[in-house]
Amino acid sequence: MKEIELRIRLFGDPALRKKAKPINKLTDRHRKILSGMAQLMYEYSGIGLAAPQVGISEQMIVADIGSGLYKLVNPKVTLKQGHQALEEGCLSVPGVCIKVKRAKKVRVTALDETGRNVEIEAEGLLACVLQHEIDHLKGKVIVDYASFMDKIRIKKGLDELKIRYRNEKLPESETKSCKLQL
Ligand code: ZN
Repeated sequence: MKEIELRIRLFGDPALRKKAKPINKLTDRHRKILSGMAQLMYEYSGIGLAAPQVGISEQMIVADIGSGLYKLVNPKVTLKQGHQALEEGCLSVPGVCIKVKRAKKVRVTALDETGRNVEIEAEGLLACVLQHEIDHLKGKVIVDYASFMDKIRIKKGLDELKIRYRNEKLPESETKSCKLQL
């Protein structure tokens, strides 16, 4: 099968706003996309990536906070507990950091890449990453959590991103400006 070439879509790209479709039949094509996504995530030093970020409107995410790679299909949060707020960045919104309030603990059900049911109990950073990526599947990005003050602070950066979202390369310096890239 032909290699699937993926590239990260930037804020302003309508692909990021589409609701991703659930996958009914998991195929080799999906497994290839998941591998390609993981590769891109590592290449850009990210800790999570969702399929809409590479222009694919299907429910797939990858995540690795340093304790192993997750490749998840049709992931859903089935339980939320507690609160936390971490400064999040996003590979699709380079240069922007936003403190996002999320659940501290989550239970996520999904399929793994072989189609088996998996259930993940996540806490802290991993819980944050999974919620961030599942947001992407709903067409939601960190910018949607911006407070009034955040909006003023990030306006210039977002305007620039919108203008050049078709430009295919991510400037190195900008992708590194926030500690968590998801
Ligand atoms: Zn993101």
